[in-house]
Amino acid sequence: MNVSKDARKKYMNTNQSSTVMVNGMGGHLAPGFTLNTSSPLPPPHSLMLSSVSETLVGTIDPFRRDVCGGTFPSNGMNLLPLLSKSKSSTMESGKEKLCLVLDLDETLVHSSFRAVEGADFVIPVRIEDVVHYVYVMKRPWVDEFLEALAPYYELVVYTASLNKYADPLLDLLDPKNLIEHRLFRESCVQWGGNYVKDLSILNRDLRKTLIIDNSPSSYIFNPEAAIGCTSFIDDPSDLELKQICSFLLALKDVDDVRCRVGGWKEFMEGEEVREANAVL
Ligand SMILES: [Mg+2]
Repeated sequence: MNVSKDARKKYMNTNQSSTVMVNGMGGHLAPGFTLNTSSPLPPPHSLMLSSVSETLVGTIDPFRRDVCGGTFPSNGMNLLPLLSKSKSSTMESGKEKLCLVLDLDETLVHSSFRAVEGADFVIPVRIEDVVHYVYVMKRPWVDEFLEALAPYYELVVYTASLNKYADPLLDLLDPKNLIEHRLFRESCVQWGGNYVKDLSILNRDLRKTLIIDNSPSSYIFNPEAAIGCTSFIDDPSDLELKQICSFLLALKDVDDVRCRVGGWKEFMEGEEVREANAVL
């Protein structure tokens, strides 16, 4: 897709990380923090009326065109810190891993300001000196997905969310540190009223980089490398990560993912048929 170079602008945000404290409603408890479980529902406040996506993933001014002042990225400037290659950047076979970019909200988890019974995590987030609690449900199969793919893919979470919410969440979601890099809102490009994740600034070979995201606007610069998953909210029978995992395991040795990634829907339809047949 051709995107006007002058129209692609960088959004910078200097939000700082906050302390991780987790508990309650079935979530894990981090040291030094306790929720009052006799009244688990948080008090009513304005954030209860808005979604986590609106508040922490954020809405932006669709008419805002230029925050950092530079054209992007044709002047050769890398607006992201370069992702550093780690020791684990190769598979056991010695072949270089593909780079798998993962969205967070509605792709790996769903989060809500409303108290959720059985939430996997509860993340306190300070907003304007008030601590709000974010209740997080993991998408089914996310643990298995990360574990199965880490040996073959360099896992990168690239989210438009604020790091003060996403960073402590990832600490809990990924206790084995399988995700090698975390990129937050300040690493997204502001374009057309959306936070866009531009794979071309990751310092990775685009033939070997793909993205999974529930929001098509997130990968508008790189549609040829995208697996557009459905949005996870609360369906406990959701199988999409399991199915995508099978697809990616079959894809791990290809030389150019862009020629193959478009086949994921067909593959998943086949998986659904196989699974349906298996229970008959
Ligand atoms: Mg998302």
